[in-house]
Amino acid sequence: MTDTRGTFDRIRALLEESAIAPTPSNYEFLYRYVSGADPQLVEAVDAVRRTKGQLSDRILANIRRELYGTGRAGVGRVLEDTEAQLARMNDYIERSDADARNYASRLDVSRSDLDAAATLERQRTMLAEMIEATNQMIATTEQLQSELTASSREIDALKADLEIARVDARSDALTGLANRKACCDYLDAQIDRAMSEERPMSLIFLDIDHFKKFNDNYGHRMGDEVLRLVAQSLERFFHGRGFVSRWGGEEFVIVMPGHEAEEATQFAERFRQHIGTRTVRARQSGREIGKVTLSLGVAGLDREDSAQNLIDRADQALYDAKADGRDRVVCWKAAA
Ligand code: GH3
Ligand code: MG
Ligand code: MG
Repeated sequence: MTDTRGTFDRIRALLEESAIAPTPSNYEFLYRYVSGADPQLVEAVDAVRRTKGQLSDRILANIRRELYGTGRAGVGRVLEDTEAQLARMNDYIERSDADARNYASRLDVSRSDLDAAATLERQRTMLAEMIEATNQMIATTEQLQSELTASSREIDALKADLEIARVDARSDALTGLANRKACCDYLDAQIDRAMSEERPMSLIFLDIDHFKKFNDNYGHRMGDEVLRLVAQSLERFFHGRGFVSRWGGEEFVIVMPGHEAEEATQFAERFRQHIGTRTVRARQSGREIGKVTLSLGVAGLDREDSAQNLIDRADQALYDAKADGRDRVVCWKAAA
């Protein structure tokens, strides 16, 4: 490279020449461009600079979306849009403040000035100026009003985006179930409630048996299919009874507020049997790929319990279910 300027100087120059907001993600984007780390990105930016001349926040956002698929719902994207919207609002407020001052100074013609105006002609000119200033003020106010309306619409859209991003951050992408983070939050909140209301609560830890063999024998996509099938069945079965989440890999956790461990064990057993009756088929070929069996560990909330202890006991029970031969439910019991 013949360019002797440092990477950072070049990024700064690009930010200045194009008036791009110096947000972290724009900075990172330009860094990739300047360093040439991503040839596709370099090509896309060069094409824009050749045809449109200047880069803008919107162009950067479009390229980013096209290359990296960052949907509107991403938290980073929403934050950036919000930042831009706030900057725009700030701009409106500053402009309207300046307009009001300007208007005030143009009207700052006191009665005595009018009286002092020597001729009727002069008074007419002064009045005409005031009317002109008033008309301009009305026009700019209307313009600001419509910009503010557009802005508030944009903010409503951002709120909706933020809501989607919030749901996204708490969902598992493959199965659509609540993810581990959502489960932990729910568990903490429910433990507090159960303790204060002195109500029972249980937790089921579920692991698909020999899941690896689905991947090994039929491919990863078939493995995914099995995960989705178990997730859907769990959701249907525990609907209105418990909070179902994907803990990770082929493990699921069901939190059951209001249920003693014995009841939760019965539900776990019924679900195990329900899955056992189903035969999994490959969607396209219809080829039978056999039965899915599950191992489940159950534990009930103890007084003075923590979320971690409850999970650990259910996990221990699950381990025992595996050790006992899989395809079964074990309820945790304190060693005698
Ligand atoms: P066990 O009965 O002892 O539970 O055996 P297992 O084969 O179910 O358990 P193991 O922990 O050995 O293997 C789990 C496998 O799950 C390994 C991993 O590649 C696979 N896996 C984890 N997450 C996913 C996923 O999202 N999709 C697919 N297809 N496979 C996954
Ligand atoms: Mg496992
Ligand atoms: Mg397993």
